[in-house]
Amino acid sequence: MAVGAHPDDIEILAAGTLAKYRQQGHEVAMCILTDGSLGSDTGSSEQTAQIRRSEAQESAAIIGAGIYWIGRPDGFLTDDRDTRSLVAESLRDFAPDLVLAHSPNDYHPDHRCAGLITLACRQLATAPLFETQSPTLERTPQVVYMDNLALIGSAPEQWVDISETIEAKRQMLRCHRSQNEWMRRSEGIDYLDFLEKQSSIRGLQCGVEHAEGFRRAHVFPASPADLIFDLK
Ligand SMILES: [Zn+2]
Repeated sequence: MAVGAHPDDIEILAAGTLAKYRQQGHEVAMCILTDGSLGSDTGSSEQTAQIRRSEAQESAAIIGAGIYWIGRPDGFLTDDRDTRSLVAESLRDFAPDLVLAHSPNDYHPDHRCAGLITLACRQLATAPLFETQSPTLERTPQVVYMDNLALIGSAPEQWVDISETIEAKRQMLRCHRSQNEWMRRSEGIDYLDFLEKQSSIRGLQCGVEHAEGFRRAHVFPASPADLIFDLK
């Protein structure tokens, strides 16, 4: 399971890895914490959230990923009891072996908060006295940090070769039409070009065409390093 702050973060940072897991027969899910309602300069925030939710669903469907839409307000993600409860319930419902989380030094406050919430919920999901709808997890899932957006301040320790799944990643990112249009207008950035550069740089670092980078979260309980990515 990947946990992202906004509806397009997981695609940018880890979609190639999720697609690779799917190719190898694993179940994957995307847990999206905010509603993305600030991600536009046209229409209302309600309309934006609605558009972004349907874009996220369209994207997840490309690789057959499950979606957990937590729906907290974009730009104001806070680590509170209600949010933890919803995220812990998602973890319990999906019961992942591995969780991909935002790194604590990412540029966006929502990203950093999402990372903290993910770590907190990894523990809470195993605590029998913290009740949600689904039963307690028997095993604490392993957590790995995704790269930061635009790779700023990221120092990956592990790389996943996504050369075979880059096309799925491209298709998923193309679903986020509202963001591509907005980023073009506001920042002069083309989404797909952005993605190509990021994955090419990571590919260059590990001798393949395209890659995604990750860093182990040094937390307890930990799994042996070789169990983090069981990808061929
Ligand atoms: Zn984001």
